[in-house]
Amino acid sequence: MTCDANRVRFASVSPRNTSRECHVCGHAEQRNRLDRDHFRCLKCGYAGDADLNAARVILKRFLTGPYGAGCKPKVAG
Ligand SMILES: [Zn+2]
Repeated sequence: MTCDANRVRFASVSPRNTSRECHVCGHAEQRNRLDRDHFRCLKCGYAGDADLNAARVILKRFLTGPYGAGCKPKVAG
């Protein structure tokens, strides 16, 4: 894999439910999305910008998903 050489890699993350999933607790519900711009989690109470929340959900999926730990340097130390 070229990613071993240049430490750059491409990975895709499913956008499914990102618009209604809370990045804090992971609760996904349609009513979390107040309107186009506003998000509020009905479970933990987190409130914020809907796009920012969605971006954080995607980031979390990227870091914890199947690609998150898949490209570590082979030589440590
Ligand atoms: Zn929440």
